[in-house]
Amino acid sequence: MISKLYYRFNLANEKKIFRTTKSQYHGLVVGAHIGAYSSTWISSFLRKLSKPYFVDPMSYMFALDPPPVKDVFCIADDKESYLALSNTYNTSIQKIVQKRPLNPIDFMKEDNPDKELIRDFLKNRFIFQENIDGINPAQKRIYEYFQFDSLKNEQIIDKETEDCELEFFSIPYFYFRSLSDPWYELNQIFYKESKSIKKNKPKYSFLCFDKDILMEEDNVETLFKNYSDSEGIVLWVHDFKPRTDSEIYLNSMINFINLFAEKEIPVINLYGGYYSCLLTKIGLDGYCRSIGYGDKKQISHIAAGGGSPERFYVKEIHKSLSKNKVRSFYSKNRNLMCTCSSCKDIRVANNLKSDTITNISRFFDSIDYIEDSRAHFSNSHTTERNEIHNENLKDINVRLRKEENIAKMLNIPYFLGEDISFYERWRKSLAQYELKSNDT
Ligand SMILES: [Zn+2]
Repeated sequence: MISKLYYRFNLANEKKIFRTTKSQYHGLVVGAHIGAYSSTWISSFLRKLSKPYFVDPMSYMFALDPPPVKDVFCIADDKESYLALSNTYNTSIQKIVQKRPLNPIDFMKEDNPDKELIRDFLKNRFIFQENIDGINPAQKRIYEYFQFDSLKNEQIIDKETEDCELEFFSIPYFYFRSLSDPWYELNQIFYKESKSIKKNKPKYSFLCFDKDILMEEDNVETLFKNYSDSEGIVLWVHDFKPRTDSEIYLNSMINFINLFAEKEIPVINLYGGYYSCLLTKIGLDGYCRSIGYGDKKQISHIAAGGGSPERFYVKEIHKSLSKNKVRSFYSKNRNLMCTCSSCKDIRVANNLKSDTITNISRFFDSIDYIEDSRAHFSNSHTTERNEIHNENLKDINVRLRKEENIAKMLNIPYFLGEDISFYERWRKSLAQYELKSNDT
């Protein structure tokens, strides 16, 4: 099966691109704050799009200091959406997050976890997630009953909404700095308590921590042991930067994912790009990103990746770069100009019959960086995913070496100011995994 790619939905003006690229991704990630803020709009969007999805609970935001609803640097729309999310919380938690950052002791009662509060909080979050598509729960039950029935009557539920389905429940999560961080303990309590809440779908744990945690073997063992009977993991390793991180980080990430994969526990990377797609070959179940940006994220209030508008995906190094850099690069390498359906359409619409230097300049001036550039990204990344899907680790190694040589030949570090040493580290990290798995 091809890798599961989930696109994160961020901006209202992306609505069209999610429809036009519908066949090129597996599902959607809906930020809980966006779901709370634009609930009617999001539910109609999800039903019309009719793709599987899951909700990112975004709970970690309320432990940041200041909390997003109080943050003077938080942009107005974000602030409003976090306020809307906090309004969906249980009364006691709602009161705190609208005043100050959450603290683990807010979930305690006389030195012990306040089980009643935690259970209510989790139940409340799961109900919020299952209602986000706005499909009436009674209608859902009828549909679930009939979908196994040969007499399935399409009129019972709008055919359009058939594939619009919450894939799994997301357990609320908080970022932890170490395994002795009280937030880590609270995440685990959430996980254990969630087991006793009966639901018809799996519940996934979100693990959000600093990459240095994976440097200690003991930590890796403990984390794995504590979540080894989980129904699924959504991973967010803070500060993990596969393009610049040393091999040791890449190897530890691979080994960590592999522990779960060997037990057939699905792991999804919450922010990932091309390297995550490569990791699907070693057992990563899927990865999430925005269309054309957001392939990594730091723990902060600032919106994912910034979504810089005037960027264009350069397949030669699997990265989006600024319009001006890309224009001068392709003017020098005219034979490399993209021929995907979106790029072809731009040429036709602007009567650019051949890729002369003037036409290349006009091409980059006529691109709509919301629609065309994202469609180009999605087309390019689909080609990459298919390529990876059809290769084994040896093929990938050979191809990455070839790409690296081409990048050297094109003098990409000089012309694009981009370091290409990641090629070697990516190859080595996959090779160490292959070596290890052949040994066992
Ligand atoms: Zn293209």
